[in-house]
Amino acid sequence: MSQLTRVGFVGWRGMVGSVLMERMREEGDFAGLEPRFYSTSQVGRAAPDVGVDAPPLADAYDVAELAENQVIVTCQGGDYTKRVLPELRAAGWDGYWIDAASAKRMDDDSVIILDPINRAVIDRALAAGTKNYIGGNCTVSLMLMGLGGLFAQGWVEWMSTMTYQAASGAGAAAMKELVAQMGQLGAVDPALSALAIDRQITAQLRDGSLDTSAFGAPLAASLLPWIDRAVEDGQTREEWKGHVETNKILALDPEVPVDGLCVRVGALRCHAQAVTIKLTGDVPLDEVEAVIRESTPWTRFVANDKAATLAGLTPAATSGTLEVPVGRLRKLRMGPDYLTAFTVGDQLLWGAAEPLRRMLAILRE
Ligand code: NAP
Repeated sequence: MSQLTRVGFVGWRGMVGSVLMERMREEGDFAGLEPRFYSTSQVGRAAPDVGVDAPPLADAYDVAELAENQVIVTCQGGDYTKRVLPELRAAGWDGYWIDAASAKRMDDDSVIILDPINRAVIDRALAAGTKNYIGGNCTVSLMLMGLGGLFAQGWVEWMSTMTYQAASGAGAAAMKELVAQMGQLGAVDPALSALAIDRQITAQLRDGSLDTSAFGAPLAASLLPWIDRAVEDGQTREEWKGHVETNKILALDPEVPVDGLCVRVGALRCHAQAVTIKLTGDVPLDEVEAVIRESTPWTRFVANDKAATLAGLTPAATSGTLEVPVGRLRKLRMGPDYLTAFTVGDQLLWGAAEPLRRMLAILRE
């Protein structure tokens, strides 16, 4: 496997792709690679500067050209995956496909990658000849980076997750829409009384003057308790992913129920979630804390007090870092086997780009 040098990158200039390029440059991952960069719209332009030579941008739909690569890493989106991967496989391409999009996540011939949590699952798949390695849903990956250790102990009977998800999860345009709304609403005269400010802002939230083309309703000074499309039984697809992806990532048998309610809030790129865990028994809190501390090298335990929480358990404190803080840990009034916790993470790093970067490194090991 040490011979893997020809790697193609598709979707590298999008939001997830840009973070991936940034992280790969930071970690020196391009050394020894012969990267080729692709675009669906900018063929022939110069490749990005990644510190090693690369030819001009090639056509991301040119299957013969793509098939020259031993590995293809794509952050281009699900429609691209659905169109191009079957054509590549039909043409006999036998390379590794590493993908940020959800399109192939639940297929039997793919593995969801989150190696600090499921390296054993990845290694088994590699040994079995699996070729498709897909990044997980951001909220699920971040929950597991924080609390995966509890599943590994077999301590989780079920989990309910109530999320507070950032605008960036809906793409760059959505993030910009939130900031534009903030600017427009923030132009209110601060000398007015609080009630007058509220009246003015509430009127703006309702009068159609804010651009809401990305989210369908104002997000600034509000929140949106619906993410993605409806599936069955009143769930949204984002909520559905919580159960199916957690169980697939961890290869749990029997399955552990995971369900909750996903809410978009006005954070920029950090998702947060409050979880309720029904433990399989009355595990002492200090043992739970010790397991969380050891979950991954990036999991950081935050003491359950106000100063530590406000300093370390917020999107503002976590954005742009690989740390996944977990705090507000305590037993609930419902009984000694009911646990609550709160966790935050940058959804463009562990939630999107980092597992892809690390999968490429695993293939090159
Ligand atoms: P994105 O920012 O919309 O980028 C996708 C593609 O759009 C780019 O590769 C680029 O392709 C094209 N594009 C058109 N105009 C652009 C512009 N002005 N700047 C940059 N790119 C432009 O998509 P994304 O949010 O990164 O998501 C990519 C995939 O990852 C999706 O499947 C998504 O579901 C998944 N994902 C996203 C997140 C997230 O947080 N957003 C998290 C996990 C997974 P060309 O060069 O071919 O034009």
